[in-house]
Amino acid sequence: MRESTAPPLARAALDRDGEARARDDFHAVFDADPGSRVIVVHRGRALLSEQVDGSLPALEFLAPGELSRGGTDALRCYLGRTITTGGDAASDRFPVGTPIEVRVVDEEAAQRIEPEQARWVGLRAAVPLLGDRDAGLFTEALAMANWLETSAFCPRCGSSTTVVQAGWARRCEREGTLLFPRTDPAVIVLVTDDDDRLLLGSNALWEQHRFSLLAGFVEPGESLEAAVVREIGEEAGLVVDRVEYAGSQPWPFPASLMLGFTARVSSGTAPASATPDGVEILELRWFTRAELAAALPEVGLPGGISIARWLLERWYGGPLPEPDVRATR
Ligand SMILES: [Zn+2]
Repeated sequence: MRESTAPPLARAALDRDGEARARDDFHAVFDADPGSRVIVVHRGRALLSEQVDGSLPALEFLAPGELSRGGTDALRCYLGRTITTGGDAASDRFPVGTPIEVRVVDEEAAQRIEPEQARWVGLRAAVPLLGDRDAGLFTEALAMANWLETSAFCPRCGSSTTVVQAGWARRCEREGTLLFPRTDPAVIVLVTDDDDRLLLGSNALWEQHRFSLLAGFVEPGESLEAAVVREIGEEAGLVVDRVEYAGSQPWPFPASLMLGFTARVSSGTAPASATPDGVEILELRWFTRAELAAALPEVGLPGGISIARWLLERWYGGPLPEPDVRATR
């Protein structure tokens, strides 16, 4: 296996500055600081800057004052302070240490801020274009936007909640209890056999001929390692062992953390006994590296920003041909 860089969505380059969240007057201080910058998210898409003279795509950063009209009711969250520049002259319009917030705006506000639809771009499409700073900011912003938009009511008593801690918590207005953002762990597993062949499965929800690694959510009361063994048992009918952690990345669709593992079919289990569950997984195939290369592009592989692809290329030993657009959605 080659040494690889971090997974595509694990490129965060930001000081989350957790101490600042505790200030009761945080938003007022932020708005009064002419150096503050805001990124805007609407329906899972962020506003990207206008492209001029071949400049690289970057997030559009607005001053708080530029959002004052109609943007004041937006859900907002303090993401932290920048620790690097954007890596591109056109996007280096503010210094390291700039405080950044996300505002989640409604249709009307989004339209007012930027009516040109092409400049609102989803995370999957944007991340391959963005530098580390902006890719990390968008990932964090989307994860927090997803939580803020779906957590208006207390899950215990149903009362309204108030956003506190600069966007990082909500307080139940009846009970006074604090509610924090959730992250849902999911394991994704690169299974090999004793010949270092790779197991790929085709999911019932995907188009035909698209294959990926097996994955599933970690259940309450379960360790990550147990989740790996259970998922492969359920989806492929195989017993695996030698479970090893490989890396992780956030997956804010809407709130997952993907935990990448490798595992080996146990010595008492024949690889050929792999049997799809017929519900989630319809087909299973073993590939050597040469077989996988020869199967492309008839076999569709997971998209560029997925941890599945990162794990695959780590096993393969280098980049695989990019999938077509359909396979990245
Ligand atoms: Zn409550």
